[in-house]
Amino acid sequence: MKLLKDKIQNEGRVLSENVLKVDTFLNHQIDPPLMQAVGEEFARRFKDAGITKVITIESSGIAPAMMAGLVLGVPAIFARKQKSLTLIDHLYTASVFSFTKNESNDISVSKDFVTSEDTVLLIDDFLANGQAALGLIDIVEQAGAKLAGVGIVIEKGFQKGGAIIRDKGIRVESLAIISSLANGKVEFLGEDLS
Ligand code: 5GP
Repeated sequence: MKLLKDKIQNEGRVLSENVLKVDTFLNHQIDPPLMQAVGEEFARRFKDAGITKVITIESSGIAPAMMAGLVLGVPAIFARKQKSLTLIDHLYTASVFSFTKNESNDISVSKDFVTSEDTVLLIDDFLANGQAALGLIDIVEQAGAKLAGVGIVIEKGFQKGGAIIRDKGIRVESLAIISSLANGKVEFLGEDLS
């Protein structure tokens, strides 16, 4: 998705060979027209998949997931990282290991919102080692729902998450795939003029 790649080139900051900072449009400040275009692109790619729910993890997945849900005409659900006063039981829970923090955390989704009747599109901001996506996939499986696929805004193709999930036979659609962050430069995989 050219619009997104241009934004990454112009505003992304390479913090290390493994980490890209995109807090001007995705991870802190949000660019609504760009998120709308992202939602439209996910909806275009998954329009024939019979999606009934979009699911993500708080907080950075919410903007693209909500826009995809808006265009597809279905609700968007975000898994919560902390239990709250109102979210204490009747939950699906999965453990997500964070390589950056070197710790595991539980994510939870109410059983009210994902059921065996649903066909789910999983959305996230980044795909790195795949642990967040695997946690969400676990929750979709616990609910007995059908997983239509995974939509990622920025995939770091040099980390192993994309391969882990595609090797499970799951469809992964990434709007920008980064092949390298070496030497402070963002390189993308493949030409994409759309
Ligand atoms: P995972 O390794 O589970 O695929 O990535 C987990 C989460 O870490 C992503 O949802 C994203 O929020 C965050 N993350 C991973 N790599 C990056 C990165 O290079 N930049 C930013 N801003 N977030 C990242």
